[in-house]
Amino acid sequence: MTFQSLGLADELIKAVEQTGYTIPTPVQMQAIPAAIAGSDLLVSSHTGSGKTAAFTLPSLHKLIDRRPAPGAGPRVLVLTPTRELAQQVEKAVQTYGKALRWLNTACLVGGAPFFAQVKQLQRPVDVVVATPGRLLDHLNRRKIKLSDVEVLILDEADRMLDMGFAEDIDAIVAATPAKRQTLLFSATLDGVVGRMAERMTRNPQRIEIEVAKEDRGQIEQRLMFADDMGHKSRLLEALLGHDGLQQAVVFTATKRSADELSLSLQEKGFAAAALHGDMHQTQRNRTLDRLRQGRIGVLVATDVAARGIDVAGISHVINFDPPRQAEDYVHRIGRTGRAGRDGIAITLSGPRETGLIRAIERFTGDRLEVHTIPGMEPSPRKPSGPRPAGAGAGRRFGNGGGGGGYGRPSSGSGERRPGGGFGGRDGHPSSRSERSHGDRRDRSSRG
Ligand code: AMP
Repeated sequence: MTFQSLGLADELIKAVEQTGYTIPTPVQMQAIPAAIAGSDLLVSSHTGSGKTAAFTLPSLHKLIDRRPAPGAGPRVLVLTPTRELAQQVEKAVQTYGKALRWLNTACLVGGAPFFAQVKQLQRPVDVVVATPGRLLDHLNRRKIKLSDVEVLILDEADRMLDMGFAEDIDAIVAATPAKRQTLLFSATLDGVVGRMAERMTRNPQRIEIEVAKEDRGQIEQRLMFADDMGHKSRLLEALLGHDGLQQAVVFTATKRSADELSLSLQEKGFAAAALHGDMHQTQRNRTLDRLRQGRIGVLVATDVAARGIDVAGISHVINFDPPRQAEDYVHRIGRTGRAGRDGIAITLSGPRETGLIRAIERFTGDRLEVHTIPGMEPSPRKPSGPRPAGAGAGRRFGNGGGGGGYGRPSSGSGERRPGGGFGGRDGHPSSRSERSHGDRRDRSSRG
């Protein structure tokens, strides 16, 4: 397939040719014709997939024949989570829109002088690329109007939500015309992103771009049973102290327990830090920078805060508390196995959490292999039957990868609980969580 066959205007094809690209990427092949046809789109794709051109080209195609009327507001609005991404997108718009000599763009991001941006907005601007916070400032001060927006693009929507922009985005979208076209790009289309997408799009076409297998690291998934919180803490320390561990993200259920656990790990000498939604954005950015620089070895995080973390050194994900939503499990373990490396994901289950484990296995279709650490095995409990069917037969993400490292599979490779394990259906009550998770069928992307 060529760019010519996608239905783009000649001026745009020429600009693409000048960049040297000859073959559209998969996301471009699917998204460009659909967007030209006028559909709203929900696209799951990753950085590096060519997504910027996938939304920029059809949006410019829409602008091509008509210059804006004097005094009109932008016709294309792109929202991005970060300044850097906004700048990259603006650059792409200028590159692909080179032939549209009248085309004006503006990049409205935080950290840049506000009044210079106001000045920019005093001339007609066709395409605005913005981070939500700064755009909302301009909107509230009536420095910009969004009533002429024809195409609204949400780039890396999941990251914007992670960064706490949900309300800002809602306010911005409410200021755009209902008849606009909406193109939403995100690493995942599940959970909160899916719910936001439902509110903002009409009959959207869903495009899911699989990450090539060779680009996906392999994540070995393990399960360890603990008798109580004290036992969990001891297991955690043993896991974190292991040689093979480079950097780890430890997940807790609440912000408070993230703070407490991080503090207690620091006291034990680990280079630990917490990351959660109550922290100020600058504090979160600083923590993430330190994680990237390798100065933090153990990040103790909540689900929302950890979404979108892409640090190649994270060799382990440890679910200190198993996720309450099975789909969060996939996002959590996806923090390891980045940049094509392998990773290990270990879920610690207390006696009352076995229902959550079953929900995860049902959701992913993968069976978590039970491991123990010699000398730290869970105490034998009332025998129970084999773990219920419904999950796949011991498959793991990717091809699994070798055991290696601490802990060892319990006898029976997870077919039965160790020493009888924690009660099955007749054991500890977990029916409520089972019911709330059990009927989720949609499989999440593995990013
Ligand atoms: P993105 O996913 O938009 O961040 O793009 C990733 C990289 O791929 C960027 O450097 C683009 O310039 C480049 N790119 C975009 N489209 C193509 C294409 N059709 N062929 C080759 N490279 C591309």
